[in-house]
Amino acid sequence: MTTASQAETHSFQAETARLLELMIHSLYTNKEIFLRELISNASDALDRMRFESLTHPDLLGDDKVLQIRLETDSENRTLTVSDNGIGMTREEVVQNIGTIAKSGTRELLQKLQESQAADQPEGLIGQFGVGFYSTFMVADRVTLTTRRAGEESATRWESTGDGQYTLTKLEGAEAEKTSRGTRVTLHLKAADSDGGLPDYTQSMLLAQIVKAHSDFVAYPIVQEQTREEVERDEKGQPVEGGKTKTITEDVTLNSMRPIWVRPQAEVTDEEYAEFYHHISHDWQPPAKTLSFKAEGRIEYSTLLFIPSQAPPNLHYANQEYGLQLYVKRVLIMENYEELLPRYLRFMKGIVDSSDLPLNISRQRLQEDRHIQQIRQWVARRVLDSLATLQQDEPQEYAQFWDQFGSVLKEGVADHGAKEAILPLLMFASSADPEKRTSLADYIGRMVEGQEAIYYITGDSRGLVENAPQLERFKARHYEVLYLTEPVDEFMTQYLDKFDGKKVTSVTQGTVELGSESERQQAEEVLKKHGEQYAELLKSLQEVLDEYVKEVRLTSRLTESPACLVGDEFDLSPQLERMLRDSGSEVPERKRILELNPEHPLLEKFAGLCGSEALADRGFMLYCNAVLAEGGELPDPARFNRLLAEFMLKDD
Ligand code: ADP
Repeated sequence: MTTASQAETHSFQAETARLLELMIHSLYTNKEIFLRELISNASDALDRMRFESLTHPDLLGDDKVLQIRLETDSENRTLTVSDNGIGMTREEVVQNIGTIAKSGTRELLQKLQESQAADQPEGLIGQFGVGFYSTFMVADRVTLTTRRAGEESATRWESTGDGQYTLTKLEGAEAEKTSRGTRVTLHLKAADSDGGLPDYTQSMLLAQIVKAHSDFVAYPIVQEQTREEVERDEKGQPVEGGKTKTITEDVTLNSMRPIWVRPQAEVTDEEYAEFYHHISHDWQPPAKTLSFKAEGRIEYSTLLFIPSQAPPNLHYANQEYGLQLYVKRVLIMENYEELLPRYLRFMKGIVDSSDLPLNISRQRLQEDRHIQQIRQWVARRVLDSLATLQQDEPQEYAQFWDQFGSVLKEGVADHGAKEAILPLLMFASSADPEKRTSLADYIGRMVEGQEAIYYITGDSRGLVENAPQLERFKARHYEVLYLTEPVDEFMTQYLDKFDGKKVTSVTQGTVELGSESERQQAEEVLKKHGEQYAELLKSLQEVLDEYVKEVRLTSRLTESPACLVGDEFDLSPQLERMLRDSGSEVPERKRILELNPEHPLLEKFAGLCGSEALADRGFMLYCNAVLAEGGELPDPARFNRLLAEFMLKDD
C-alpha cells in the first residue's frame, strides 16, 4: 500500500529568495522571455535525453519522439510547458531549482543593492540570467512535476515565490501518471495586472513568442490547436450545406531550422542574439557575431559570438569553456574545449561539421585530425576578425579589450598564434593616461635615438607610474608601457620582439639610452663616479649582502637616490611571488641595488664608510627602494625603529 504523498516545505536559500523577490517585482519590460527560458531548459533536457539514449536506448521506452509541448487553460489561467527530456530526481530539483549555483549570484545581488531602484535594470538582471525564476514575472504560482528517465518515483515542486517551496514525492499510481520529463505549470497573474500583462493563454500570442525567440530550437515545440473545417468535395471545393468538423491537431510552432544554415542576410540581429542567449545563457546581446563557412577538403560552418561582457568566473582555473559541436546539424557535444585555444575561451558558438561520423566518441574525437584543423581555423578567423575590429571600429575594440584583453594576452605564449596576437595587444602607457596603445602605435611615437620598446610591470598603475626606474626615460621623453595585470608577468616572458624592435623591461639589465655619443658620455660619467665611490659601493655591498647581489651606479635615475633592478634574464619579483603563491619552487634571487651618482646622498654616505651609521642608512635606502616597487620590507621591526629614531632627531 502506498501512503498518501506528503508535501514538505523548504525555504529558498537566502540569495535565491532575494532574487525571486526581485523577479516578482521586476520592472523588466520584456516579460515574455520567460517562455524562451522554459523552452531553452526543455531543449537542454531533451539534448541530455538524446545523449543518454545513445548508450541506454531502453530509457526512451515507447516515448520516442522528443518534443516540447505547450498547453493552455484559459479558464483556470494556466500555461504548461512540458518536455519528455531527461527530467530530474528529487535531489536534482532541490539542487537546480531551490538554489542558484551560479557563481555570479552574489556579485549580482551586490550590484543590485548598490544600484538605485531607477536603474535596476534589465541589463543587470539580464547579465546574470535567472532562467527558471523569470516565470515569477508572469505567474503567482508555479508547479513543476518531473520524473527522471529510468526512475520510478516523480517529484512535484511548487512555489508562490515567497521564500518557500514545497516538495512532494509522487509514488505508485501518482508517479505512473507522470510521464518522463518535466512539466512546468504557470498559474498566471491576472491578464492585465502589473500595468498590462498580455494573456499568455492565447495560442496566437504563444505562436508569436515562439517564432520570435525560439524558432531555431532543434525539437518540435507543439501546441494542440483546434480548427473548424467545412466539408469539401473531391475537387477541394466546400460542399454547400455540408457539415463543419472540429479538428484538433498538434501544430509545430517553430521551424527548427538551424540558424547557421540560413543565409546570413536573412537572419536578423535579434535572431542571432536569441540563439546566442540559448547557447550561452547570457542575457546580454553579443558584442559581435561571426559566421563562417569552410568549403573544401573538409566542410564545416561556424557561428561564433564575442560576448559583450566577461562573466565573473572568466578567470577561474577550472571554468568550462568551448564551442558546441554539431555533426550534420545534430548536437554532439556541448562546451567542447578542443575547438578553441584557451586564450579564446571567452568565445561562444557552434561548429557544425559534415565530415565527422555522428556516433564519434570523445576519445576518438580528440585524436581526429579534423578537430585540430577546425581549432586552428577558428582561431585564425577570430584573430583576423579582431584585427578588423581594431582597425575599423577602435571604440568597440577598446570595449572588447576591457573585457577580454587579459585572456587574449595568454595567447602570446602560443607559438602559432603569437604573430597574429602581438598587433592586437593594447597597453596603458606613459604617453596618454586616458588611452591605451598598440605596439605599432608606440613605434610610431618612438623618439630619435630610441631603439627598443620599453615596459614596466608592477602591481598597480600608481606604483609603476611613479617608479624611480622611469626617471631617465621620462627625462628623455621615452614612452614606457605600463603592465599591471597578473597575466602581464607571464606574457612578458614571451614578448621579446615586435616589428624588429626589442621589447624590454626598464627594471631589468642596464640602461643604454640615446645616441652612440650620449651613451659614451654616460658611461664615462659612471666610470668617473665609480672611482669616486668605489669604497662606498664596497661598504654598502657588505652591509646589504644578505639582501642584494650587487650595489652599482646607474644613469637610470635623475631624482631618486636608489632603485632595485634585476639582471636581464631574472624573473621579476612579482612573477616570483606569483609562482610561489601557485606552489612552484622558486629559488630566492637577490636583486641589484642601483644608486644615482649625482644624488647628494652619495657624498654624505661616502663620508660614513665603515661606521654603524652607514649600515643603518644603507638599510633604510634599500627599504625605500623596496617600497617604491610595492615590495615587502625585509625587516619591518628594524625599519620602524630606525624611522622612529630619525623622527626624534633635532633638525
Ligand atoms: P539555467 O538553465 O541557466 O542553468 P535555470 O534556473 O533556468 O538556469 O535552470 C536551473 C537548472 O534546472 C537547469 O540548469 C537544469 O539543470 C534544471 N532544469 C530546469 N528546467 C529543466 C527541465 N525542463 N528539465 C530538466 N532539468 C531542468
